[in-house]
Amino acid sequence: MAEGVYLLDVWQFGQPGTGGVYLLSGAEAALVEAGTSLAVPRILAGLEGVGIPREAVRWIFVTHVHLDHAGGAGALVRELPRAQVVVHPRGAKHLSDPSKLVASVREAVGDRFPLYGEAIPIPEERLFPAQDGERFTVGAHTLRAVFSPGHAPHHLCFLEEVKGLLFTGDAAGLYLEGRLYPATPPPSFDLAASLDTLARLQGLNPKALLYTHFGLRPGAEGLEKYGELLRWWVELVEGEREEGAVLAELARQGWPVEGERVREDLLMSVRGVHMYLARREAKGA
Ligand SMILES: [Zn+2]
Repeated sequence: MAEGVYLLDVWQFGQPGTGGVYLLSGAEAALVEAGTSLAVPRILAGLEGVGIPREAVRWIFVTHVHLDHAGGAGALVRELPRAQVVVHPRGAKHLSDPSKLVASVREAVGDRFPLYGEAIPIPEERLFPAQDGERFTVGAHTLRAVFSPGHAPHHLCFLEEVKGLLFTGDAAGLYLEGRLYPATPPPSFDLAASLDTLARLQGLNPKALLYTHFGLRPGAEGLEKYGELLRWWVELVEGEREEGAVLAELARQGWPVEGERVREDLLMSVRGVHMYLARREAKGA
């Protein structure tokens, strides 16, 4: 990716190029994201592949607690004896007791649930709730935690300040094979918060965006593009309402909706917008 930064493809949901975990290496090492628990063997093999002993991993930075980002953290801290999990203060309780989180994922994803692995509770002393702007040193890298609500209220991005690399988690959408996709799942997607976050991230002037889903995109243009996409997406769902009609409109506009995975992700994002609109209406906005 860049000097001392590796992208491990964790074959999320059994597919290549959809879910990643970043590895920062040096005298100390760190992971950005943990994948699901099913990713753990690949992550450990990746460490071994670049010659990083397990004791060298000091931090696991998770952008948020959704299972495709933090589900594997509990299994990882058992394997990485010095690692602490850096998480938003509002996300920490879901990592020490994942039961609510797991129940909500089960409800949201139905029969895809086994693909999310299992979430092992993380002991409090292995968690590190990060404040906005807090800095972490990892060898030659410095990572700054950036509160970035919108996809979820407890979302963090991480800016690698030396090279200007921004780990976007899901705050800047999904970037798969050169196309941006909305990441607006239930229960807490919030358009206004997302747009504020994108403006804030642009203000950091990143040199490159490192998407969890999936990989590096040079420049910061993806942030602006995602803001445009989100406005359009929420309007589309608000206009069409019904899931089938949204998919039909996407297909008409040339989106690749025939793949089952893409379709299910999009439908989940439609439901997230429905919940957002219902909340907005309830507030009388
Ligand atoms: Zn995700």
